[in-house]
Amino acid sequence: MQVPLLDLKGQFAALKPEIMTAIEQLCDSQMFVLGAAVSKFEDEITAYCGAAGSCGVSSGSDALLLALMAEGVGAGDEVITTPFTFFATVGAIARVGAKPVFADIDPVTFNIDPAEIEKKITPKTKAIIPVHLFGQMADMDPIMELAKAHNLCVIEDAAQAIGAEYKGAKAGTFGKYGCFSFFPSKNLGGFGDGGIITTDSAESLERLKIFRNHGMNPKYYHKYIGGNFRLDALQAVVLSIKLKYLDGWHTARENNAAEYVEMFNASSAADKLILPAKADYATRHIYNQFSIQVKDGKRDMVRDALVKAGIGCDIYYPLPLHIQECFADLGGKLGDYPKAEAAAESVLALPIYPESTTEMREYVVSTIAQALA
Ligand SMILES: *Cc1c(COP(=O)(O)O)cnc(C)c1O
Repeated sequence: MQVPLLDLKGQFAALKPEIMTAIEQLCDSQMFVLGAAVSKFEDEITAYCGAAGSCGVSSGSDALLLALMAEGVGAGDEVITTPFTFFATVGAIARVGAKPVFADIDPVTFNIDPAEIEKKITPKTKAIIPVHLFGQMADMDPIMELAKAHNLCVIEDAAQAIGAEYKGAKAGTFGKYGCFSFFPSKNLGGFGDGGIITTDSAESLERLKIFRNHGMNPKYYHKYIGGNFRLDALQAVVLSIKLKYLDGWHTARENNAAEYVEMFNASSAADKLILPAKADYATRHIYNQFSIQVKDGKRDMVRDALVKAGIGCDIYYPLPLHIQECFADLGGKLGDYPKAEAAAESVLALPIYPESTTEMREYVVSTIAQALA
């Protein structure tokens, strides 16, 4: 049996007539940049998340960059974030000329630990970027309290967490900005790159929309130096259709995760693994990834066994950001963030996509149990 880590073909086949009709209509209109399709999709995301407004952008990476630019974060400023994330979180901070400052993670949720954030706040700190990793939100109450006490801007990196909930409220509604990605492998994936920023006020929304279009308002008059961060209408049309099915896909992922937990707990591998845990505060984990931890340094051996058995899996992420070559000038070294480093050495993401089957999970679990026997 072959089990891919992610297979989007089934999802597309089910929606193909609806999507192709909408694409054809858009082609007939020849309106490809921003316009009605993008505005409609922005309103839908605003309603879905329960935010004050949304600004469609070119990618999740650009969402982070644009939020920092609109906030005026730059040289001389410090931004606190997690070392255990996708590169784009930290890349955006460096690209605006600010200094990334890391705070170690909670080993259970893999998310930034608020107690560690507090230790890193200095007079230069401007913002905090918590990342809602794998589809589970960071512990937002203490993060928002710290931000309020020290007058810091919170930018949620919700690229993996659209629809995830913390105490009943959705990702992207806690910070001043919520940054989302529609990269095809996210729970809501487009037909290429795309992203969106949710905001807490009409004022920030207006600023974002100006920055997204070269800082231009009115036409050819530039108050700010923005950039081209626009969302394509083609992506908006596809995403508007897919959004209607998103909660159903989330539910399928939740069910798949519950089934994995049951199967692993009943297997001989149970005490050799740490399964993904849902925090008490997490009213919804959307399982963008189902990342197990393999104990006793056996992760790479298990990965090799899965690959050999035709099972897709991946390591998110093998090298924490503080020890990436491009950030050497920040002076980070092995040992600085032990929890992030331990996670990087033990995590392994397994197939969890909505259309994956019980038989596939049985095969994955038995292959892992055999490898660890
Ligand atoms: C995917 C991702 C991004 C970047 O999104 P793109 O749309 O690929 O640019 C940023 N942060 C995290 C945590 C991500 O997973």
